[in-house]
This record gives sequence, C-alpha cells and structure tokens, in this order.
Amino acid sequence: MITLSGLTKAFDGNVVLNNIDLEIKKGEIVVVIGPSGTGKSTLLRCLNLLETPDAGTLAIDDIQLDLAKASEKEAIELRKRASFVFQNYALFANKTALDNIAEGLVTVWKQPRAEARATALAILKEIGLTDKQDAYPASLSGGQQQRVGIARAMAAHSKVILFDEPTSALDPEWVDEVLGLMKQLARRHQTMVVVTHEIEFARDVADRVIFMEGGRIVEQGPPDQILVDPKDPRTREFLRKVL
Ligand code: ADP
Ligand code: MG
Repeated sequence: MITLSGLTKAFDGNVVLNNIDLEIKKGEIVVVIGPSGTGKSTLLRCLNLLETPDAGTLAIDDIQLDLAKASEKEAIELRKRASFVFQNYALFANKTALDNIAEGLVTVWKQPRAEARATALAILKEIGLTDKQDAYPASLSGGQQQRVGIARAMAAHSKVILFDEPTSALDPEWVDEVLGLMKQLARRHQTMVVVTHEIEFARDVADRVIFMEGGRIVEQGPPDQILVDPKDPRTREFLRKVL
C-alpha cells in the first residue's frame, strides 16, 4: 500500500536520510527503533511532507508523489491518507477535545462542522473520553491529550498513522493507556509506522521492526528476529543499551 523509494534528506549539507527504500503492506504494524539523531523523526516527517526531502518518490493508496517537488495540493492529498501523531500531542490549546478532533475533518476533508463534530463525538466514545469532550487540552492529563491526538488521526480514517515517539513525553503513569489505545488500533489492522523506544510494545505488536542508524535502515525483520537475535552488531549494541 505504501512504497517509498530513494528518500534522501540533508540539513545544511549534513545527510540525515540516505536513500531509504521502504514498503509497507496494508494492515502492517511497523516499529522503527534506533539511537537518537539517526533520522527517525525526519523519516516520518518526510512521509507526511512536514519536511521537504531532497529526493524520493512515494506511492500511497491511489496517489504517487515526487516528494521533492510536491505541490501544496499534493501535500494535502497525502495528509488525507497519512496522519501524524506527535510526541508533544500538538493539540490546539484554544479548542476543546471535541473540536481538536473535528477541526481536520472541516479544514482538510471539507466536512460540514456539525457532521465533523458528530464524527468526533463517536470517536471520543470509542476511546472512552466522552466526558472530556468540552475540556481544553490544559485540563487534560498527558495521557488524555495524547489519546485525543490519536483520536484526531483515527477520525480522518487515514490509510496509515505515523507515530513519532507518542509516549516519550508522558509521565510513566500515562504510558500504558496510550499504548493500550495503539494496541486497539493494531488489532483492527490499522496500518501504522511507530517510532518508539518501547521495546515491549514492539515485541507484542509489531509485524516488522526496523533498526535505523546514521540515516539508513541497518536491518529489519520480525520482532522475534530483530529484537532477540539481530545480525548486525550495531543493532545488538543498541538493544544492549535500551533493554
Ligand atoms: P531522531 O528522530 O532519530 O532522533 P531526527 O530525525 O530528529 O533524529 O534528526 C536527525 C538529524 O537531523 C539530527 O542530527 C538532527 O540534529 C538533524 N535535524 C533534524 N531536524 C533538523 C532541522 N530542522 N534542521 C537542522 N537539522 C535537523
Ligand atoms: Mg525523533
């Protein structure tokens, strides 16, 4: 469903992503691990055109893009198919939980506001947050804010949800409720790419684990291979540090 070819990105002449190819199947749960500064966030951001790559093509669902030359219109079409869940939630501080979810449906999907709010309410119900529909982000716990962030991606019925370290800004007490919601999505075969240091989540949920270092995919495979018996010494070294 997703084919990425030749993704390359440099910042000020410093190559951060080096010719990355990646194929993701419908319903696949891909977890990306690797040391910090290795290009994991940049990879996800390029996949949603939050950064403009220097080169790379992307086929997703029924569209095909030259990522380095995509128009704003193409970027919008891409973002209808791929949603982003940010480490710091990135909710609108001046909008309620309900309107945070409804907003994209109005602006991106051009849904009438009443319809968008009905969809948002249904999603809040699904994730057990109806009692917080009128709450502003500042009055929600970190876990609740991130669940609203995920609900926003769910409401868009995206082909793929891109998660960039969705639990790493959370106090430990809220991590499980967010991982729980992500597991719920995985059981529904929502296609996801998840950058995370939660190795246990990777072991339980991932169909495939990708280890990145220095802007390249070093190795990838099923979790019981990559996490238990990695071939590359760099993967072993990384796991030794995080486990
Ligand atoms: P990771 O998510 O794996 O920690 P990143 O993708 O955030 O890594 O960053 C990879 C490299 O690119 C780092 O060296 C980082 O400093 C650099 N980088 C990321 N974003 C920018 C930016 N907007 N401008 C300049 N350098 C950046
Ligand atoms: Mg990052």
